[in-house]
Amino acid sequence: MRVSRRAKELRAAGREILDLSAGEPDFPSPAVAVEAARQALADGFTRYTVAAGIPDLREALAERCHRLYGTPWRLANTLVTVGAKAALFQLFQVLVDAGDEVVYPSPAWVSFPAQIRFAGGRPVPVATHADDGFTVHADAVLAAVTDATRMILVNSPSNPTGGMIAEDDLRRVVAFAAERGIVVLSDETYDRFVYDGRRHASAAALAREHPDTVVLVGSFSKTYAMTGWRLGYALGPEALIGKTIDVQGHTTSNPTSFAMRGALAALTGAEDDVRHMIAEFERRRDVLVERLATLPGMSCRKPAGAFYAFPHVAGCYRDGRGSVAFAEHLLETAGVALVPGLDFGADDHVRISFACSRGEIEEATTRIEAVLRR
Ligand code: PLP
Repeated sequence: MRVSRRAKELRAAGREILDLSAGEPDFPSPAVAVEAARQALADGFTRYTVAAGIPDLREALAERCHRLYGTPWRLANTLVTVGAKAALFQLFQVLVDAGDEVVYPSPAWVSFPAQIRFAGGRPVPVATHADDGFTVHADAVLAAVTDATRMILVNSPSNPTGGMIAEDDLRRVVAFAAERGIVVLSDETYDRFVYDGRRHASAAALAREHPDTVVLVGSFSKTYAMTGWRLGYALGPEALIGKTIDVQGHTTSNPTSFAMRGALAALTGAEDDVRHMIAEFERRRDVLVERLATLPGMSCRKPAGAFYAFPHVAGCYRDGRGSVAFAEHLLETAGVALVPGLDFGADDHVRISFACSRGEIEEATTRIEAVLRR
């Protein structure tokens, strides 16, 4: 937040700032979604809906999940939320009580520990490592489970690392959790952002076998470039989803009515937009990582998924100062905004988004290089 506030100040003062900190695609939302939302407004679809979201969208989400992963989930297992963020927040409120532990791979998205603490729980980060692309290993995750563990939280592909979990490891995590009565919450916000022909392993594929264990969270934000629409979803055991709908009913009431009509159109009619965007992201990733490899003091593997590079940059630090000082230094001297790794639990790294044009990536890395070679 500090870096982004400073970036805004510098911009307001007339500096040209290149922003590689964005957690959102720079593409427009799909035309079909925009048109459907516009039509919904014109039709006067502007009142409260039921708390769980419009049934058409819930059914479409449940059907899609069934088609892709053979899930047993239906309408009553499906909830539309005000972004994946609200889905996670509400699920933590329902599932996590004071003293409960939530185990999750780290570095991790900043809102995970914050939301776990807000529910009274104890975040238990499990280290993943740059040398194998921050891959999530079942052995490490399961070794962190104790009698106090209430939940295992998986985010594959990961923000900020792009690291993923393999199908076998995910199966082992879910089977182990099922034996112990632990919930596996799988945040698959970046499920479509996988590169080099890899396959995303979804926890949803294990829901038929372990129906009381698996909870899926997803988002329209990144896949459909619809961050500002604020729409996400959760699918899982009916009783749990029912309680989560109660929480939603008393907090946000329902996701925005006409936005949900747009999301339904995106879900059913924007596949070409999604493929086009992700192919471009893969090219950007390659450009960015190739450029980073030439910078002194940095090392970076190609992320398997998501849209962030997470280079090791401690070699660039002056006087042992950390990622926040480094990010501030790059902002002031190169006019490039990126996110310090500290808040993700990795002070030797920074997060660089490739959700910006190839031209911006070239220019930003050229500027960073000039600063590092000074
Ligand atoms: N989960 C992860 C891992 C994210 O990175 C984000 C957004 O950055 C979210 C959830 C929240 O997405 P939404 O915009 O749907 O609330």
